[in-house]
Amino acid sequence: MKNITIIGAGLAGSEAALQLADKGWNVTLYEMRPRKMTPAHETDFCAEVVCSNSFKSELPTTAGGLLKQEMQAMGCALLPIAQQHRVPAGNALAIDRAAFGKAVTRRIESHPRITFVRKEITSLPAGKVIIATGPLTSDGLTATLLQTVGNEQLYFFDAIAPIVSADSIDRNVIYEKTRYDKGNPDYLNIPLNRQQYDVFVEALNAGQKHEAHEFESDFFDDIRFQFYENCTPIEELARRGRETLRYGVMRGVGLENPITGEKPYAALQLRAENTDKTAYNLVGCQTMLTYGEQKRILRTLPGLENAVFLRYGSIHRNTFLNGPHIFNPDFSLKLNPELFIAGQLAGVEGYVESILSGMLVAQCLNGNSAMPPEVTITGQLWRHLILPKNNFQPMNANFGLLPALETPIRDKRKKKEAFAHRSMEAMKKFLNQ
Ligand SMILES: Cc1cc2nc3c(=O)[nH]c(=O)nc-3n(C[C@H](O)[C@H](O)[C@H](O)COP(=O)(O)OP(=O)(O)OC[C@H]3O[C@@H](n4cnc5c(N)ncnc54)[C@H](O)[C@@H]3O)c2cc1C
Repeated sequence: MKNITIIGAGLAGSEAALQLADKGWNVTLYEMRPRKMTPAHETDFCAEVVCSNSFKSELPTTAGGLLKQEMQAMGCALLPIAQQHRVPAGNALAIDRAAFGKAVTRRIESHPRITFVRKEITSLPAGKVIIATGPLTSDGLTATLLQTVGNEQLYFFDAIAPIVSADSIDRNVIYEKTRYDKGNPDYLNIPLNRQQYDVFVEALNAGQKHEAHEFESDFFDDIRFQFYENCTPIEELARRGRETLRYGVMRGVGLENPITGEKPYAALQLRAENTDKTAYNLVGCQTMLTYGEQKRILRTLPGLENAVFLRYGSIHRNTFLNGPHIFNPDFSLKLNPELFIAGQLAGVEGYVESILSGMLVAQCLNGNSAMPPEVTITGQLWRHLILPKNNFQPMNANFGLLPALETPIRDKRKKKEAFAHRSMEAMKKFLNQ
């Protein structure tokens, strides 16, 4: 008889519970709501979707659509329930939030092998445990996690910079160079003259920002601005003074144009997101600007006029662990292999990605810990959570994760079709094996 405790009946915990119970595990699932609510949840339903009711596009030519197809092929439990409770939304899978939450709760409460207990857990139970308590993990359990993994390995918010696709960058303007030519030229550099810099700073100052949730504003004031200076939004740095960016993240020194020798007044650096260098991260551009404003303002930078954004920047209240440092490949902790982490706490970002994480942890517990191929979004998200990297930040599904196509394709639509085709073929082969 296999027994497991799951803490948190959100998207990841509910998926893991159903997967494991269906495979014969006795699951005890703890959920603190409604006795104790998070600052964002409003109901006592399992798998409550807290904000937008969209699981994003179903088109396989989008990263979100491709991820859902891969997950369906792998036997996801929650996606079919979402599809049963869809509302019209074009190509997107949007759901009737309450109907979805009720349906998942019914499935869990009526499952003969799931014992569902409404209780906050603050200390770690014995035996095999999955912690799936999400971005708003309760304070009591957060304190226990801090004690277990140490202060350095648990974060309280994410600060994500935008990612652009490499082939949308104008290489006539943007050049490779490492500051003072130290090491490999791993960075691309956007050189700015004085006028371009001033226009950029002004645009950041005037740009429209996301309204922070009430609970986020206090949190940000208390924690981010005091202790995590490196993660300050770029528009906040611009607000502090005209020169702040130029003497910080946009320092131009040591970044002369290798061909003309021209010294930039300021420079923004781009760092490759993957070994194939198909996607680049805009270093230091974590931001609370709205997505539309990010696109508009960043496209005013020289060489980014036609930039295709694979992921937008954001800053959120988010509890997550430094998985690449502390996880085994099956999402258990190196220091306690009985303890597994799932959902946003494991470092994925987004509803569907959180469901995926619950599904992957369950599959590992069922003895199936072979990673899907590198050309799948699932395979790449898994690798993102466990392979070593500097400055680990949560990740959502995006095409920038995928390796370059064997034969480059310029047409954007055809390129996405090729990604989708390659991924689904590889996934079918993988699952057949
Ligand atoms: C305000 C907000 C808005 C978001 N909006 C979107 C969006 O629009 N689109 C999107 O794709 N993603 C969004 N996300 C991100 C993310 O996808 C969701 O938070 C997602 O629900 C995460 O899934 P999860 O299973 O990891 O955590 P959750 O779904 O949050 O589930 C965690 C569960 O654990 C419970 N819990 C916490 N602590 C304890 C404890 N100690 N004991 C017992 N139970 C506990 C919680 O009550 C909760 O039910 C948002 C996140 C937040 C915070």
